[in-house]
Amino acid sequence: MSTSIFSRIIDREIPADIVLETDRMIAFRDIAPKAPVHILVVPKTEDYANVVELAAGDPQLLAELVATAQQIAEEHANGEFRLIFNTGPSSGQTVFHVHAHVLSGALEEGSLGR
Ligand code: AMP
Repeated sequence: MSTSIFSRIIDREIPADIVLETDRMIAFRDIAPKAPVHILVVPKTEDYANVVELAAGDPQLLAELVATAQQIAEEHANGEFRLIFNTGPSSGQTVFHVHAHVLSGALEEGSLGR
């Protein structure tokens, strides 16, 4: 059964502004953007809680995530981007279904982790 909020977006149980979807990946706009471009890239599997688990368990999927971030930056910015993986509650992680924040443009003060 799907449990994470991101799985509910993947399953279309809750709405999101989806910008890209493949067999194994989905990307949608962050509901609380901290930069002019702020898009989350999320592997569809919820087997991995964070990027460390993903890197150990499926490095190919991590590489696919990075390539997806590049594609998003090309489509929504100038091809250059910040890629942030909050890892652990004290870093600011709130959703324990691995995801990357793709950011472009000026970051808001105090945003994304502490
Ligand atoms: P993190 O704090 O790194 O775990 O990132 C979780 C991100 O998910 C936050 O930036 C939230 O604003 C974002 N978020 C939470 N719920 C939704 C949603 N329903 N649609 C889009 N983004 C969301």
